[in-house]
Amino acid sequence: MSKTGKPVIVVHGGAGTWHPVHSQPALESVKEAAKTGFDRLRAGGTAVDAVIEAVALLEDTGAFNAGCGSALNIEKRVEMEASVMDGETLQAGATGLLSDIRNPVRLARVIMEKTDHVFVVGKGAEELARIFNLERRKPDTPVKIKRYEAQLKSLFEGKYELPKLTALVKAHPEVFQLETVGAVALDSNGNVAAATSTGGFPLKLAGRIGDSPSVGCGTYADNQSGACSATGVGEIAIRLVLAKTVCNYMENGKAAQEAVEKAIALVNRRISGIYNDMGLVAVDVHGGIGAAHSSPNLCWAYMAAGQKEPVASLIAKILK
Ligand code: ASP
Repeated sequence: MSKTGKPVIVVHGGAGTWHPVHSQPALESVKEAAKTGFDRLRAGGTAVDAVIEAVALLEDTGAFNAGCGSALNIEKRVEMEASVMDGETLQAGATGLLSDIRNPVRLARVIMEKTDHVFVVGKGAEELARIFNLERRKPDTPVKIKRYEAQLKSLFEGKYELPKLTALVKAHPEVFQLETVGAVALDSNGNVAAATSTGGFPLKLAGRIGDSPSVGCGTYADNQSGACSATGVGEIAIRLVLAKTVCNYMENGKAAQEAVEKAIALVNRRISGIYNDMGLVAVDVHGGIGAAHSSPNLCWAYMAAGQKEPVASLIAKILK
């Protein structure tokens, strides 16, 4: 572990295609999330505190595919999921199949800190939320219905059928929403953490679990390497154990930026012929940050010691 004493946070609001009308509020939100997380770090908070507060803020905005902004599955229902990992202890908490938890990432933390388990979903998870008095909030489903209907229309119109969902996404990227949220942080004690939260891939099958709550795939943190949060097609991140792969690259000496670029290049090399847009943010234990994507946009922001304000952008390093 390297103790730089200089905290840093990187947050993302998902890989995808951002349209001008939505992009300004989204950029403001990721900035605010980075600032909120960084303020925690500056006040001596842990990396876990920082990523939880940053992700919870993004879950509450409704502007992203997470928390109250979650996309609908094929049955027109929300099934939210989230995870968090503490790089100091390698403890992790993950949850999924949630319908009305206001902040799934806070439930992931409860699972990490108050249970002996890593991954608790569905009714059992909702019961834990009740025991620990987590707030409930129905996602803003009416707002999502219009989008859902447009997605469904595209799906059933013309040549497309359900198993060809990836081709559909390629043909109609504008109606798909891949705006998962995540954060990675390094605190002043040299500890790293990562958290990710999502409504999941739009029109996913009921019961589908993606990469975001899957430790190693969408989220990973280890003080021996760094922390990573992934966004994009969950099934790809799962197959390549992508967040852990980024951490392995960092453990083997790559800086965060080199590591995320190498991982996106790996996706492009190994997963071709299907829709494979992905985005990654990372922080290494020396305080280096990384962001790269193969999607047209990655909505992201970062803040490090010495900065007055977070820096936000819709583009990082694009590798296609
Ligand atoms: N990775 C998420 C999933 O497949 C989607 C996203 O990143 O937006 O559930």
